[in-house]
Amino acid sequence: MNDQETLRHSCAHVLATAILRIWPEAQFAAGPPVEGGFYYDVELAHRISPEDFSRIEEEMRREVKANHRFERVEVGRTEALELAERGELAALGPRPEASKFKKDILEGIPEGESITLYRNGDFTDLCAGPHVSHTGRIGAFRLTHVASAYYKGDENNPQLQRIYGTAFKNKTEMEAHFAMIEEAKKRDHRKLGAEMGLFVIDPEYVGSGMPMWLPKGAAIVEELEKLAKETEFAAGYVRVRTPHLAREKMYKTSGHLPYYAESMFPPIEIDEHSGQRAQLVARISELEQQLAGAHRHTNV
Ligand SMILES: [Zn+2]
Repeated sequence: MNDQETLRHSCAHVLATAILRIWPEAQFAAGPPVEGGFYYDVELAHRISPEDFSRIEEEMRREVKANHRFERVEVGRTEALELAERGELAALGPRPEASKFKKDILEGIPEGESITLYRNGDFTDLCAGPHVSHTGRIGAFRLTHVASAYYKGDENNPQLQRIYGTAFKNKTEMEAHFAMIEEAKKRDHRKLGAEMGLFVIDPEYVGSGMPMWLPKGAAIVEELEKLAKETEFAAGYVRVRTPHLAREKMYKTSGHLPYYAESMFPPIEIDEHSGQRAQLVARISELEQQLAGAHRHTNV
């Protein structure tokens, strides 16, 4: 973790501390730093919404102001498990329910690896660290949004609330960050593209991120393609064509499927026992022949 990530992750501990002051029964899972900020996953009957942010932030400010030290405590496996059973991990003290996600994380730590707890004030969390020295080091923070996420990203696991926030060394840096986001919004290609009549996006009928190019936009795309072809030709490249679809195996080899499955199209299921497959194969080879004819001059 770099310094900024350490600061932001430390703020996740402060967020958990604040949530527990309001909802002591909250069950926490993981709270890592992410691009632009941090999050903490929490299971809680109350649906946290942006309307709750100001009162959570108020509790967070109290914790930052108290300037508690992040105290590192190394514990044995048995002791850690006992704390989890008593609901004391990611908690302000003993609770009627066990700290179930922390217990699960604990059980996943290989034998022989050291187990560390971090304390800030009354809050104790199972965590490898590192953190800033004191909560007061978090100069500025803000909660930004809530999303939902399955525990460990597995849909068979409980659904958690993912509370996002960001943190900075000071207010000036944070204000610059949000000003930049505002500026970026003004220059968002989706907004500009629509305003300039280059393309339209219809999330409902076509899909978000799938532009339909209007005449002006299509002219730009074609000119760019032409330029790319000319540049490649001048540099001695020859063009090939590959299919748009491939078997699942290929996306595993390419490394996409293990990490981006959520943003990829689901596989096309083909029933091997119906005539569907044979029909599809015949249709594909027919299309391939047509394409081969159409692109013969582009294939070398
Ligand atoms: Zn931590």
